[in-house]
Amino acid sequence: MAMDHAGTGPSTRAVHAGEPPAELHGPVVNPIVLSSTFHGDPDGEGPVLYARYQNGPNHLRVAERLAALEGAEDALVFGSGMAAMACALLSLLRAGDHVVATDAIYGGTRALLSSELSRLGIETTFVDLFSDGWTEAFRPNTRVLVGESPSNPLLRVLDLRPLCDEARARGVAVIVDSTFASPINARPLEHGADLVMHSGTKYLGGHTDVTAGVIAGSAARVDEVRARARVWGPLLDAHAAWLLERGVKTLALRMERHNANGMAVARWAEGRPGIARVHYPGLESHPDHATARRVLDGFGGMIGIELPDGEAATRFVRALRMVKLAPSLGGVESLVSEPRFTSHAAMTPEQRAANGIRDGFLRVSLGIEDAADIIADLEQALAASMPHERRTDAAAD
Ligand SMILES: *Cc1c(COP(=O)(O)O)cnc(C)c1O
Repeated sequence: MAMDHAGTGPSTRAVHAGEPPAELHGPVVNPIVLSSTFHGDPDGEGPVLYARYQNGPNHLRVAERLAALEGAEDALVFGSGMAAMACALLSLLRAGDHVVATDAIYGGTRALLSSELSRLGIETTFVDLFSDGWTEAFRPNTRVLVGESPSNPLLRVLDLRPLCDEARARGVAVIVDSTFASPINARPLEHGADLVMHSGTKYLGGHTDVTAGVIAGSAARVDEVRARARVWGPLLDAHAAWLLERGVKTLALRMERHNANGMAVARWAEGRPGIARVHYPGLESHPDHATARRVLDGFGGMIGIELPDGEAATRFVRALRMVKLAPSLGGVESLVSEPRFTSHAAMTPEQRAANGIRDGFLRVSLGIEDAADIIADLEQALAASMPHERRTDAAAD
């Protein structure tokens, strides 16, 4: 009999949820089924299985596993995180509707709302969800609230329950981009969100070798998203679905190490000469530390490290040996990026500074390497980042 995952822990779900009953001599690992279509029933009974419908064996298996991890009735996988977000928004919105979205939002989602949905007659107001009075942005035609937690790159953590209560009181649906948390560290549906979205390209895949997206929620809400996905066509191919499933098997184990490395590097960095400020929700100095302790099961592997200026950041990044300069995050390898050149490149330095992202800000995605080796690399790069006089002083100490 197939295992009922109710009552099992997240590590077990990550390995087994969605598995069919074992068959004598059947494969232990789900095979990759590249068929784009499947035999139908001459009586017209049963569903039509077709690759674009994302209901082949590889899609269904990984979607069921992700639903189990999120505590959702249903989930759907996509060819990218952006495809997932786009179809989720299209499922809830029509011309004349209004969206309230966090201003600490992924650049692609911001562009989707402000440049694409605006062309379809859907208007968005971006708000600081941490400010008093953000609810004034709601209008009678507001249909969706978009949140993201933890945010990029300041790692702000939303207290979702009160936000979802405000939305629900107005009949507004809540979508949360939970990419930075993964379902191991946070499950937004438990706090009242209607849909949770992930870029599966990050922690879920976990090996920087697959582009994917996920939407999870109630069966009715996911059905609405599925209806959009069937005709807009943003599919995940079977091979990528298989890679996603393989990645998810080790998600709980990897997150344990990402969380531990996050804490170790944050403690190393805080107060260190040459580092102006550290952003990590596991530190007491973080503005959302108390919220993070309540709503997260782990503080994550993403950390913001502020060097004094852009030149120091350039010297730092050039000196790194093991940690690589690359956008993206959530893989087994540690990566660093500078928001001024990537996610926040469209803003002026003044606009970025007003948003808490001064030049010199480094976003580090901690991999699963040994913390001591990551820290040793960061330590030598930090020494190289310091102006020459200070380095000589430090050496003389
Ligand atoms: C990467 C990312 C996305 C977009 O996902 P893709 O898989 O690149 O389409 C959305 N939100 C967040 C927070 C991300 O990090």
